[in-house]
Amino acid sequence: MIPAKFDYRRASSAEEALSFLGEFGDEAKLLAGGHSLLPLMKLRLASPSVLVDIGRLSDLSYINDGGDHIAIGALTRHRDLETSDLLKQQVPILAHTAGLVGDPQVRHRGTLGGTISHGDPASDLPAVVLALGGTLVVKGPKGEREIAATDFFKGFLETALQPDELLTEIRVPKVAGAGWSYQKFNRRAQDWAIVGVAAVRNGTTGIALVNMGSTPLRAAAVEQALSGGASAADAAAQASEGLDPPADLNASVEYRRHLATVLVRRALEEAGTT
Ligand code: FAD
Repeated sequence: MIPAKFDYRRASSAEEALSFLGEFGDEAKLLAGGHSLLPLMKLRLASPSVLVDIGRLSDLSYINDGGDHIAIGALTRHRDLETSDLLKQQVPILAHTAGLVGDPQVRHRGTLGGTISHGDPASDLPAVVLALGGTLVVKGPKGEREIAATDFFKGFLETALQPDELLTEIRVPKVAGAGWSYQKFNRRAQDWAIVGVAAVRNGTTGIALVNMGSTPLRAAAVEQALSGGASAADAAAQASEGLDPPADLNASVEYRRHLATVLVRRALEEAGTT
């Protein structure tokens, strides 16, 4: 449980972080809250030779009104999402779900940018950003680019981020008045989801699933069934259509499929018909 030896650099700005990434290339890893990266390093599943600490970049910690969307700095902690009045008004599903991540210690350290960049299919907030149809703003040596959340998650712990890029901002549409629900099924309150479902109904319906494949993903078959006029129960029956959920100590493949159906139905019923 002791990580391999590494060098440490503390970035004092996003530009300095990018310059460290340019200098050290694939050998470097960004360190935000450290709550996913450090456990991987202790298990020797990751062995970066340089850690570039971005955890103190306070200019990347904000929740701002961007007109038709809310702009959230990548270094914003889960606890700040949970307690933000702006988010509670405009994107309540994000504030609510942030309050379900791990325990208070995790929520005080972990960052929204960290959980999105890590791309863990078991994480709660990537699914919420997917269901909302969010956009990710990324900076690299060639400048800034925007990536739709639906195009961001590529494989297990693999995203569209290049090794020399920094996720700087997460944009989510304002959905005040929309129906929404986040269903997290776990054994103890602070545990990771065995399966989770995020639903946002705002004219159209966005549904995303936690722990039902190798990435956070949209429940395309459910969304299609709903747009064709299916009832909540009939649409929910499609929850695991075309998906390949994992089996682990907590759940078999069949149990995950069953949970997905039940949780999608509950999410649709709670979100209502808006
Ligand atoms: P880090 O660990 O610092 O980084 C993770 C990865 O993202 C690294 O590869 C890093 O290089 C990269 N990275 C970080 N920031 C950026 C950036 N801005 N741009 C580019 N790359 C970046 N999560 C849940 O969703 N639900 C849970 O119930 C849950 N329970 C937890 C329980 C425990 C005990 C622990 C330790 C963690 C738990 N987590 C849970 C994970 C937690 O939410 C982490 O905070 C989160 O996954 C990663 O955020 P971080 O800021 O700690 O990222």
